[in-house]
Amino acid sequence: ERTDKKAYEEAQKRLKMAEDDQKNMLPELRKQSRRDYLKKRESEKLEDLEAEIMDDEYLFSTEELTEREKKELEYKRTIRDLAKDYKKAGAKEQEERKNRYYMPEENRRKEVPQRDLELEETPMELGGEQGRWEEERLKTASLSFGAKKEREQGMKQEQEKYQLILEEEEMIDFVTTAITMKGTRSEKDAPALSQAEMKKQSMQEVRRSLPIFPYREDLLAAINKHQILVIEGETGSGKTTQIPQYLLEDGYTKGGMKIGCTQPRRVAAMSVAARVAEEMSVKLGNEVSLVHDCYTNTLSVTVPSSRLKLSVLLSSSVIIIDEAHERTLHTDILFGLIKDIARFRSDLKVLVASATLDTERFSCFFDDAPVFRIPGRRFPVDIFYTKVRLYLNPCVLVCEEIEACCELLQERCRRLGSKIAELLVLPIYANLPSDMQAKIFNPTPPGARKVVVATNIAETSLTIDGIIYVIDPGFCKQKSYNARTGMESLIVTPCSRASANQRAGRAGRVAAGKCFRLYTAWAYKHEMEETTVPEIQRTNLGNVVLLLKSLGINDLIHFDFMDPPPHETLVLALEQLYALGALNHLGELTKLGRRMAELPVDPMLSKMILASEQYKCSEEVLTIAAMLSVNNSIFYRPKDKVVHADNARMNFVVPGGDHLVLLNVYNQWVESGYSTQWCYENFIQFRSMRRARDVRDQLEGLMDRIEVEVVSCQGDSVPVRKAVTAGYFYHTARLSKGGYKTVKHQQTVYVHPNSSLFEEQPRWLIYHELVFTTKEFMRQVIEIESGWLLEVAPHYYKSKE
Ligand code: ADP
Ligand code: MG
Repeated sequence: ERTDKKAYEEAQKRLKMAEDDQKNMLPELRKQSRRDYLKKRESEKLEDLEAEIMDDEYLFSTEELTEREKKELEYKRTIRDLAKDYKKAGAKEQEERKNRYYMPEENRRKEVPQRDLELEETPMELGGEQGRWEEERLKTASLSFGAKKEREQGMKQEQEKYQLILEEEEMIDFVTTAITMKGTRSEKDAPALSQAEMKKQSMQEVRRSLPIFPYREDLLAAINKHQILVIEGETGSGKTTQIPQYLLEDGYTKGGMKIGCTQPRRVAAMSVAARVAEEMSVKLGNEVSLVHDCYTNTLSVTVPSSRLKLSVLLSSSVIIIDEAHERTLHTDILFGLIKDIARFRSDLKVLVASATLDTERFSCFFDDAPVFRIPGRRFPVDIFYTKVRLYLNPCVLVCEEIEACCELLQERCRRLGSKIAELLVLPIYANLPSDMQAKIFNPTPPGARKVVVATNIAETSLTIDGIIYVIDPGFCKQKSYNARTGMESLIVTPCSRASANQRAGRAGRVAAGKCFRLYTAWAYKHEMEETTVPEIQRTNLGNVVLLLKSLGINDLIHFDFMDPPPHETLVLALEQLYALGALNHLGELTKLGRRMAELPVDPMLSKMILASEQYKCSEEVLTIAAMLSVNNSIFYRPKDKVVHADNARMNFVVPGGDHLVLLNVYNQWVESGYSTQWCYENFIQFRSMRRARDVRDQLEGLMDRIEVEVVSCQGDSVPVRKAVTAGYFYHTARLSKGGYKTVKHQQTVYVHPNSSLFEEQPRWLIYHELVFTTKEFMRQVIEIESGWLLEVAPHYYKSKE
């Protein structure tokens, strides 16, 4: 007989076990989706019950049991049966839910073979020899990054390869046992529209021809019925440009409410806003506006996704979180915030729009929100692999290299003259000015061909019509973060299979297409990750923590992240904000922290700007902040004028370091009257300068809000360098025997060859960022005095010096 006390103790014990259990489960929880976890727990409970019943049946014959025990057993059996039924029903319901908005049979996703893309084992030598060879190549490729000489040599070799191909007509050997991504329609049943025909159609006709159009009513009905809806559709189906307009037409802006659509990429936000305004025949700015977010690369159509303004959110009837599949840092944060807001604002509609990727995850996160699938309309794409890894130009990944690649192509065309048809070579990347961006959408003149050289911006966020061929080098440039050292770096890595498939998909939008992958089928299968790791798990969280704290969310450990960031990363961010003085020892936002949160920039940069108040050099520091933010694209170095360009650059050098050189460049440009000609003569990229000016203006506009007076230190470099130190003391390096070592981690680092301090070797310096190419290079360095460290961060440096 059990006494109450015993039962109580038992319960306590179980509770304790459950708690331990949960603790042990935590790491697993991170990996699994919560639904899987719950399902597993449910099954386990059922199994437990099953075992208990079996025990009872096995240990005792029915006669031995008392009436009460008999009843208990009966009860257990009933529960078991109910649970089983429930489970069955649950599975059925889930199946139904999955199919709820499934479109007609022939359009089901399983027909779109992106997911089912089966790789035949190609008859070439895989693994072994091949693998080793590729590894070697990869090694040499990564070695040539950044190291100027090697890189130039590499380019030369590449050039020779090109010449071989073009002039001796030797072709790259592609594996022709190609894998095909089947389309959902063939060319016969839906003839492709030529660009000219497209042009002829009126804007409204084009709108009606988009894949989303037939589902307009269904979609609006679904939105009306559900608070949160996940919308999945191929790139180009019309999600971004059409849904806001449908909502507008359906009355969602009554009473002055807004329809918000967030975009993770600046270029996409601008292009989309412009397009929507054009389709609505209105000017950008009133009905359709772009609320942007300075230069954090996170502009959005109407809601800034990084500095999320709750007021904007509160005046919106619908929030569309677009490009959800990109899983950028701010999209992920938005997920958590909006899920919370939606709970107490039942009138707010939340739409999560994504390319055909992993939408079940989104549904699951938003408490099993239904998924509305817009059937794709894709033509087949043949995919070709190379027999060996090819490197067109191992660096064609960031804007400079995109420009270089365009030049290369143009140069090659010029040389071939009339041998080939006219080739329009157009770049597209995030920092490209919008007038240049618009060019990629212009129809190609008859007889000519358009080549778009793009970063992964063209993967899903922009739709360029008429693309037939895609060349996929198989790389991406990815931010990665080492929580141990706190180092953030951009590294070139193989892209994910999901990315590769998106890239290939771009070829089949208007007609059957071809995708040439410059890697082997083996590499696709064995070396690429299935999907890209969400940014939140590979980034510095300083900004995010500051943002969330300023929104009053103090308990970050329990914030509802779709995929929680690594614990160490969170802790490190808290620690860093504490060191910067943004948080107090209780982890609460300080007055300084509150002011820092007003600036949409990295905490170190905002600290630097705020420190300029004390050193009376905000004029200079604002310029430096703006110039730093345009990311190493100030100086222009055309291959045929290397000497001139280097001389021009030398003319800007002033003592003290790169920050001061940047300041000097900017000031001289201002003196020239923001002249284009001046930029041209001095080998400065005009568009980068224009962007810096833009950023600077925006920052200056915010100075009022944080009550910093804009004053100049009149040419004295010490205050400026002190302000930089106040923000970046975490990035201090000291000259020691073997070169520079970081103060925080004693890591060996090198001054970047492009730096004005490359040959100076000052004892103490501060770097803006570390980039890992052939070595760990410090980029943008400034000379400091060690005594300043104590002055700007006494609580951080006291024990060390
Ligand atoms: P999704 O968001 O589903 O990827 P979009 O709404 O961005 O699709 O694009 C739908 C269609 O609108 C595209 O196929 C393209 O034809 C057209 N379009 C979108 N943006 C532009 C633009 N800036 N210029 C011209 N056409 C555009
Ligand atoms: Mg879109």
